[in-house]
Amino acid sequence: RIKDTPETFSFFSHEMYEMQLDEKRMESLMESALEASEFKIYLQPKVTLKDKKIHAAEALVRWNSPVYGLIPPYRFIPLFERNGFLEKLDMYMIEEVCRVLENWQKEEKMPIRISVNLSRMYIFKPGFANKIVELVNRHHIEHSMIEFEITENVIYDHSEELRSIIKELQHHGFLIAMDDFGSGYSSLNMLKDIPIDEMKVDQVFFRAEKENKERSFEIIKGVLSMAKSLHIHTVAEGVETEKEVAFLKEAGCDEIQGYYYAKPLCMKDFMEFYHTFQEE
Ligand code: C2E
Ligand code: CA
Ligand code: CA
Ligand code: CA
Repeated sequence: RIKDTPETFSFFSHEMYEMQLDEKRMESLMESALEASEFKIYLQPKVTLKDKKIHAAEALVRWNSPVYGLIPPYRFIPLFERNGFLEKLDMYMIEEVCRVLENWQKEEKMPIRISVNLSRMYIFKPGFANKIVELVNRHHIEHSMIEFEITENVIYDHSEELRSIIKELQHHGFLIAMDDFGSGYSSLNMLKDIPIDEMKVDQVFFRAEKENKERSFEIIKGVLSMAKSLHIHTVAEGVETEKEVAFLKEAGCDEIQGYYYAKPLCMKDFMEFYHTFQEE
């Protein structure tokens, strides 16, 4: 470790100092924030290209702090991953998703599947799948209405363990999506070994620099056609323009998730968006 001599100290910007302060702050507040329901579930619609309807959405967490305002996940997820709190938060998110689904089933008659993000931080713990099943079974919903999104680079070190946990969750009727597909090292190897239900093509391909755009689009095309021949449902993430939508339609992508249609929305806004969108 570098000692805090006056010389090295100047390397650390004010921003970094503040950031560290923030993490300490967040850490001291997280438990009570969870108790006080400050963590909110936001939903981002996934639009099916074939019928231009919403049949699915992704649950994304936001921290609505009375002191700091709406805190985006990139500020606290890495911290919670390190200090272990993410497991508790994600279990809370799954519970929230169950409540929403139960309500939709009973009151609104909205047949929408919701996906939840899982982290490698806890999925390999013994008994993980059973814990999920128990939690979900306290609510009366079909397991197939819940999908779990797992980031592909998880596989990098734990491919056997991952395969077995995915199979176990699928055995219980949950669907599994491979998140951020193409952003890591092991995508193709993973496809060989693990029978995933859905592939989410990473947004890096859409964020490519102008001179790399064409190559990126060719890669997406290839990935989509490969997924199709493996009977894997495809979702493109981070879609922002009409041009991208047209291209993805042409390339045979199943679903689109991105700002082009909607940002992640709070519950109330999502309901509004959904009803207007479905009627169009
Ligand atoms: P992710 O799982 O890859 O989620 C997609 C992210 O892309 C979301 O960011 C979403 O708002 C953003 N996005 C969607 N469409 C567009 C677009 O058209 N353009 C751009 N520029 N961005 C778009 P968000 O909500 O800030 O979440 C960031 C990451 O934090 C997520 O990436 C996920 O890894 C993690 N995360 C969020 N919520 C949870 C959670 O409840 N549990 C866990 N374990 N991780 C979560
Ligand atoms: Ca995700
Ligand atoms: Ca993603
Ligand atoms: Ca991501």
